[in-house]
Amino acid sequence: MNNSILIQDKQDDPQTVKLSITENREWKGNNSIHFKTVISSIDNLPTLLKTTNFSLNHWQDKESRTGEEYSQYRKGDYWESASGIMIDYDGTLTIDEAKQRLKQSGLKYILVSSKSHSPELHKFHVLIFYDRIITDKSQHRKITQYYHNKYFSDSDPSVKDLARFFMGSRDDCVVEIDTQGQHIDTDGILSLIDFQLVSDLKIELASGKTVLLNEIKEKTPCKCPHPDHDDNNPSAFIDLHEDGNHYCHCSSCDWTWREQDDENYWYKKCKNFWSYGKDVYEFGIIGGDFFMEKITQKKFYILTDSNLDQDSKNRSLNHLVKNKHIPHLVRVDYTGDVDIEVPSYEVNKNKGVVQVRYDALPVKLKDSEFVASFIHDRFGQYAQFFKEWLALYVYTNYRKLPTIILAGPRGRGKSTIAEMAAEIYPSLSQEWHGHEQTHNYEVEKKFLYVEENEMSNSHQYKTLKKYSGQKYAMVNKKYKVPYKVRNNTSIMMLTNDKVPIYVKRDELPTDSKNNQFFVYELPPIKTGINTDIQSALVNRLGHYIRTELKQVYEGLNMDGYRYSIDVPITPEEKLLFQCSTTDLEADADKYIEKLILSKNDAYRPFFIKGYVPVQFFKDFDISANHYNRVIKNLVKRGQLMGNYERIMVKNERHYCYKMTDKLRDEIDKAIFKQL
Ligand SMILES: [Zn+2]
Repeated sequence: MNNSILIQDKQDDPQTVKLSITENREWKGNNSIHFKTVISSIDNLPTLLKTTNFSLNHWQDKESRTGEEYSQYRKGDYWESASGIMIDYDGTLTIDEAKQRLKQSGLKYILVSSKSHSPELHKFHVLIFYDRIITDKSQHRKITQYYHNKYFSDSDPSVKDLARFFMGSRDDCVVEIDTQGQHIDTDGILSLIDFQLVSDLKIELASGKTVLLNEIKEKTPCKCPHPDHDDNNPSAFIDLHEDGNHYCHCSSCDWTWREQDDENYWYKKCKNFWSYGKDVYEFGIIGGDFFMEKITQKKFYILTDSNLDQDSKNRSLNHLVKNKHIPHLVRVDYTGDVDIEVPSYEVNKNKGVVQVRYDALPVKLKDSEFVASFIHDRFGQYAQFFKEWLALYVYTNYRKLPTIILAGPRGRGKSTIAEMAAEIYPSLSQEWHGHEQTHNYEVEKKFLYVEENEMSNSHQYKTLKKYSGQKYAMVNKKYKVPYKVRNNTSIMMLTNDKVPIYVKRDELPTDSKNNQFFVYELPPIKTGINTDIQSALVNRLGHYIRTELKQVYEGLNMDGYRYSIDVPITPEEKLLFQCSTTDLEADADKYIEKLILSKNDAYRPFFIKGYVPVQFFKDFDISANHYNRVIKNLVKRGQLMGNYERIMVKNERHYCYKMTDKLRDEIDKAIFKQL
């Protein structure tokens, strides 16, 4: 049963409006559930809006309340009809600005300031009215969206909420009523929105000629094709997008029609654009490199051809925010893929992961024998190891591979080997200085090679360990927000030196299943240096990696290998570990040596008793406080006990560290050797 006040179902009389109200102002927001329907004259609206909570939506009667006064149940599912659009501004526009826009729209309206409005922060409602009561949800939504986009896109976006109502305003609220304007021409707007450009549509060109839409191949001025627009002065044009679809813009209708459904159109147009935080980002691959760039909204409109009118701008931005929003960018994964021909990227919005895939170098010459014999010539007995390493590099991502250290004088092909490997995935390869710096572009790469660096400190050893061991890395680029990448880096070092890097002496691997370094001195080239070898190899490499290396890869069993394959412990590697110590280790060694050779009578009685006075370290120390680190190192090695104690020997008192049996044995042996 409808309320008895309701006397007509149509809003034929433009002086009245059907609305839902509840007079019980004690109820708070969510409790305002039960409404009744009234027809009010527009003149009487201000009084009503101050005394009731209200809505231009109308809902079904809830059965259980049949016959009661407040029988409407306010819920989106129960929406029955609407008599207009309810716009809500919460401080993003002033009342004067709103009035200006409304005047421009030519619509009859009522504007009323809302409860929390203040002269400093304008908060208000605007009601505009349909010329009939609309009972079709999709029509209501289309028209609402149209006006929201066209005039009120900066207002509260929940304008289409079918359960929407407004709280009544204060007694002293601001009220503005327009008496000149018209109600919304609902059929006119629907016809504008629903009109479609079809390929056999007849178009009257500005030249007077009539053609079919699909005959138009370039931007052409024409009369507006919309049947309701009697366009005597051609105020439209039709153009063809590179995607093959026409679009028509009429400046008088202020509308753009597109020759396909809208979501699909914007899907294509916004392909490389993403919403992140409050910003628009462009993603893409240029010159073989993936990029993520924050761009201005203006640029976004231009790049998506949506800069023609406000409505297109709103539609493109709506599409972006609704369908292309990345809530949280977690990381970028860079991979190489030998099976693809062009690089690509994919965004998993929910996981916040961008997956970038790069193609491998293409096939040019089919001559695998050439590459194979080069590898055999350079690597000799280790050729199989190198092939396996290369095969894993080409066919897998994120697998731990051993670091390759190639030693030997100039002219033995070190650079040729490194550059050959770098050519496989050029976008993912980089020559690197070997040190971690503030802007570390290298962590995005799959292959790094270090030429003849100053590999001289333990800090670099740590960087190397980090790059080859960690699962993720942070990328810091100039002018960019740092982001995470999944570590995919394999490293090759080239050196003239026999001891190219600092390693920890006690980390010499004993098992080739567990060996992090392949250290190898290249033999001299017997046949004379072929200056074209580099390009000859690269031309044949595309075929080689897709044939011979594929076979190698498919034959591999990676179980039980810490670095995926068997890594031979070469004589060069043993030498590396024997000769190499970190600075601190070297200093600690020096103290042991001094301790053995010491002729200092003051300390010798302590040594004999198995104690080392702290003062002994202080006496020889060059830099302040360094002795503490040396002591800690000796404790860590198991040569001193962990805590010092005060000891008196022959009337001398000193703070001392007690030697372990291990150190006493070493001293005994050393002294024995001296004798
Ligand atoms: Zn038009």
